Amino acid sequence: MLEESYKLLKEREIRITPQRKAILEILYDHRGEHLEIEDIHRMLSAGRGDTSRTGLATVYRAIELFQRVGLVYRLPMDNSPGRYEFIGPRAPDHHHLICLECGRVEEIDDRLVDGFKKRIMKAKGFTVSERPIKVYGYCRYCKKRP
Ligand SMILES: [Zn+2]
Ligand SMILES: [Zn+2]
Repeated sequence: MLEESYKLLKEREIRITPQRKAILEILYDHRGEHLEIEDIHRMLSAGRGDTSRTGLATVYRAIELFQRVGLVYRLPMDNSPGRYEFIGPRAPDHHHLICLECGRVEEIDDRLVDGFKKRIMKAKGFTVSERPIKVYGYCRYCKKRP
């Protein structure tokens, strides 16, 4: 997946600097997690070598770039900074449950929303895009009623 990502960046003529490489690796290593820019920056600073001195603005710009080419997905949050995750060069295959109380993000796979997409298509003639779907509610730890 990482090799394919570098290939995609090369195709788009985007330079793979050591910083960008390190940032993409962090995101890749934390697949399935949903990180804030600050988390990524902290992990980068904890690393070795020159990339540990990368500034927050550089991290921000690199993530924006990855997002634009579709390697990274941004999960917008209502009351906190957006979260980011590596999705790679392929279409995303999962959706998100977002807790309104504690901000916990859980993933659900495509198969769970397949029937939902088909029913919408049938009832409304509306094709749901490949973009991840967000479902807001309360997680099992918060257990509050909406
Ligand atoms: Zn996710
Ligand atoms: Zn919760």
